[in-house]
Amino acid sequence: MSEQAGTVVIKVGGSVLRTPPDIVSVTERISRLDQPPVVVVSALNGTTDSLFAVIEEVEDGTASLDSFIEDIRSRHQQMLSAGVSRSIDMAPIDAVLEDLRERLQTIQHRGETTPRARDAICAIGERLAARVIAMSLQESGSAAVSIDADELGVITDGIFGRATVRLAETTDRIREPLLDHLAEGTIPVITGYFGRSNHGDITTFGRGGSDYSAAIISNSLDATRLEIWKDVEGFLTADPARISSAKVVPFMTYDEAAELAYLGVQVLHPRTLEPVRKRQIPVVVRGAHTETPGTKIGPPREEPDQLRAIGTREGFGIVRMHGSAMAYEPGVGAKVFQTLSEHDINIVNMAASQATFALLVNGQDTDRAAAILEQTGIPTVEAISGERGYSLICIVGRNIGLREGVAGRVFSVVGEAGVNVDMISVGSSNVAMSFVVDESDLPTAMQALHMALFEHASHENDPVERSSVTGS
Ligand code: ASP
Ligand code: MG
Repeated sequence: MSEQAGTVVIKVGGSVLRTPPDIVSVTERISRLDQPPVVVVSALNGTTDSLFAVIEEVEDGTASLDSFIEDIRSRHQQMLSAGVSRSIDMAPIDAVLEDLRERLQTIQHRGETTPRARDAICAIGERLAARVIAMSLQESGSAAVSIDADELGVITDGIFGRATVRLAETTDRIREPLLDHLAEGTIPVITGYFGRSNHGDITTFGRGGSDYSAAIISNSLDATRLEIWKDVEGFLTADPARISSAKVVPFMTYDEAAELAYLGVQVLHPRTLEPVRKRQIPVVVRGAHTETPGTKIGPPREEPDQLRAIGTREGFGIVRMHGSAMAYEPGVGAKVFQTLSEHDINIVNMAASQATFALLVNGQDTDRAAAILEQTGIPTVEAISGERGYSLICIVGRNIGLREGVAGRVFSVVGEAGVNVDMISVGSSNVAMSFVVDESDLPTAMQALHMALFEHASHENDPVERSSVTGS
C-alpha cells in the first residue's frame, strides 16, 4: 500500500443525476481528473423518496411490488444506457433489486415495518447509484469499482434513521482498502447515506446523509479536499427562490457554514462539517455541471470581518409565559426545559425578561407545548399562550456577535421596512445572529436585508464590511 499524495473525495448528489446525459457529464468530468478521486454517491434523483413511499404502500396493502421493482429497474437501466454503449450488464443491479424485493415481501407478510427494515430498504438507492456510476466510469475509460459502505466498514452507533459514525473504528477499516484501490489507479465509488452498526445493522444518517458519509471518508483518508457536487453553485447569500439576486459566497468558515446547515438551509447535511473540521480538510461546494469555483469552507483565515449569508427557516411557533414574580423564582427555566424535553419538544431558541419567558418551538409542537406547561403548573407563571406562524432569520458572518454596529444596522433596516422583530439572539460562536419575524413579514424583511447588506453599498464604504481584522 502506498500513501497517496493528496486524495480528493468527491460527493455527487442525487439531485444532479436526473437525466441520462447528467450521468455522462458527471462521469466524464471525474474521468478527466489527473488523479483518481474517491467518489461518494447518493441515490439517483427521486429514488430514496420512492423507497420511503413504497414502504407505506406495502404497509397499507396498496403496493404492487412487481411494478415498483420494474419501474426502479428501468429508471436505472435508462440512466446507464446513455453512458454505456455496449449491451448493459444488469446483473449487479438485479442482485440489489432481488434483495429489495425480499425485504419488501417480509414487510408485506408482517404487515408492519421495523426501523431496522426501513433503514435497510432506504439504503438501496445508494447501492444502485454506486453501481450505475461505477459502470459509467468504466465506460468512459476509468478503472472504477462500486463499494457498499456497510461491507467496506463505515461503522455507526446503530441508531436507525439518524446514526452517528464511529470514526476511529471506521478509519481502521476503510483506510487501507481505499488507499489500495487508489494506488492501483482505481476509483472507488462508495455508497453514501448509511453504514452498519457493530451488530451488522444497516443504519442511515438521516435524509441528505451522503454529505456526512463523504465527510467521514474524507476524515478517514485525511483527504486534501472534499468536493460536494450539487445542483446549486455553492452557498448563496440568500435562498435564490426568495432573492433572485443572491450571489455565491466564495468563502465561509466551518462554524459559519455549520450555522446555516443546522438551520436547515438545504445545502449540506447538518453533521457534514464535524468530521472534516477535525482534520481541517477544506470543503468545496460547487455545481456538478458548471466550472465556477463554488463556495470554499475551511478554517478561519486572515480577512476583514464580513457578512456571508442570510438563512431562513419557516414554520415556528412561540410559547409565551407571563408572571409578575417570575424573575424572583429560582428554577423556572429549568422546570420549563425539563418538562418539555420529557415530552420530546425541542426548544429552538429562547428569550427572557423580568416577567416573561418566550420559547421558540417547531410550529407543530406549539399548542402541545403550551398545554403541557399549563398542566404541569410552573410556579409563578400566570399566563401561557402559544402562537404559530413565525419564521427565523439568521445572519451569518465573521465576528458578527462582537460588533455592535451590525445588530443596530440590521434592526434599523428591518424596522424601516415596517417589520416587527422578536426573540433576538446572538450565536455562541459569534458567527450568527438570529431573530424571529411574523411569517407574513418574511419576504419583506428578506428583500430589505439582502438589499442593504449585500447589494447596496460597495464594500469600501459599507460600515459593516469595513471593520478591522480581529483574531483567529
Ligand atoms: N438518498 C438519501 C436521501 O435522499 C441520502 C442523500 O441524498 O444524501 O436522503
Ligand atoms: Mg438524495
